[in-house]
Amino acid sequence: MPTSIARSGSVLADFLATVAQSESAAAQATYTDALVDGQLGDPDENGFTVDPENSRISEAEPAVSGGVSTTIIIIAAVVGVVGLIAVVVVAIFLMRRHAARDKPPKKASSSMELEPNVAGNSDDGYQSLRMPRRQKSDHTYQGLMASSKTEDTPDVAYEDVKPSSEFPRNQLNIKEKLGQGEFGSVYKAEAWKISGGEGVKTVAVKELKGMSSPTASTAFFKELTVLKLLGTHPNVVSFLGCCTDAEPFYLLLEYVSGGSLQSNLRTSRTQQTYGNLHGGSKSLSSRDLTKFAWDVAKGMTFLSSKKIIHRDLASRNVLVSADRTCKVSDFGFSREGDEYERTTKTRLPIRWMAPESLFHRKYTTKTDVWAFGVLLWEIVTLGATPYPGMSKREVMDGVQQGYRMDKPKHCDAKLYNLMQSCWEVDPARRPEFRKIQRTLDSLMETEHDYINLATLDENTYTSLQTASDEKY
Ligand code: AMP
Repeated sequence: MPTSIARSGSVLADFLATVAQSESAAAQATYTDALVDGQLGDPDENGFTVDPENSRISEAEPAVSGGVSTTIIIIAAVVGVVGLIAVVVVAIFLMRRHAARDKPPKKASSSMELEPNVAGNSDDGYQSLRMPRRQKSDHTYQGLMASSKTEDTPDVAYEDVKPSSEFPRNQLNIKEKLGQGEFGSVYKAEAWKISGGEGVKTVAVKELKGMSSPTASTAFFKELTVLKLLGTHPNVVSFLGCCTDAEPFYLLLEYVSGGSLQSNLRTSRTQQTYGNLHGGSKSLSSRDLTKFAWDVAKGMTFLSSKKIIHRDLASRNVLVSADRTCKVSDFGFSREGDEYERTTKTRLPIRWMAPESLFHRKYTTKTDVWAFGVLLWEIVTLGATPYPGMSKREVMDGVQQGYRMDKPKHCDAKLYNLMQSCWEVDPARRPEFRKIQRTLDSLMETEHDYINLATLDENTYTSLQTASDEKY
């Protein structure tokens, strides 16, 4: 390769010399023509000539050729430098290509078989998932990003996402289905060596379908960037990684074993009835419920500090851990409209929506605050459907006209005041999550029962169903 550079350099030098010669010859010819045409007088003994027409002393031949040769030298220098740079760039490119060709090819994996170097000690009983998988070529992350823009301009901002958050599918052992979400099923799974850990960790795998369209994939990777940068919080379900090399895309999340807050609240109803009838609750106490609200407020304070708008905060989207800690789930990927949802017409969580979201499609942290107020009401009523006895249309009309849900009899005024403040029509008058958290801090500090479960009016809060055209 150095020989070819030297050869290219000498060819370039010859070329530049030829250019200089021909330029000098051309200047000479012009000068001669001028003389012939009588535009210049004869040169004197000093080599100067008098312009007969303007009687102006000008430098004759030496002046003309001197100016031209300066120009030639500058042009030659510029051309030379540019040429040399071009030769060096081409040389580097050719050397790299040559080096790449010498590398051993990567092993192509077309199935979910566990690779030997990944499997490690087979005695650990770890069994990988065997699942047919598309080749990477047309569904790689790069390909998806490029397709949303131009063919060869992948979005650099999203480039970072893959190396640190992409998890090899063949290190996932998918087990039972946990539930059905908006975008696909959620499974329990075992992940081998995830998040820098050793051995197997139980995770939740959220399947995301319909991601190959440019719009969906762009939005997906944007959200992934957010999740990756989010960090962890005890009251927010942690993001552990993703599989985006082929469809279905998987989101890998912290596994939270206790189910949704909604199901916890509803399950506790039966036990509550038993508790009320037989004295002493065997289920959730008033303090447990206040703690749930407090946990969610802390999670939302964290999310809002990171400028994340949940858009679908409700008890069904809060998970409860084995030690009864609430964790906000399902954020980041919940979007109104068809960014992700491919299969069905968008259904909206109308009963949790602020007026500005319902009527102006506006979503802010303050619309999440409104939803938090409704979630608080869900907690107090052990998972009843908000606006009991009202249809979707009635809820929309009512909210627009300033209707707000009444205080449940068994709910303390302080807690209800907090709910009401979340339902201020002017978003600016609703409290920040930080303030909500502080209010709940103080409620948690006192021993008072803010929710008197012994007087829960089950007849008023039996509504656990929603019309089929609503989201929930
Ligand atoms: P989603 O798509 O978030 O609505 O999830 C549907 C269901 O899957 C939920 O109701 C939960 O029962 C379950 N689920 C979702 N995420 C998790 C998780 N991180 N850990 C355990 N179960 C989960």
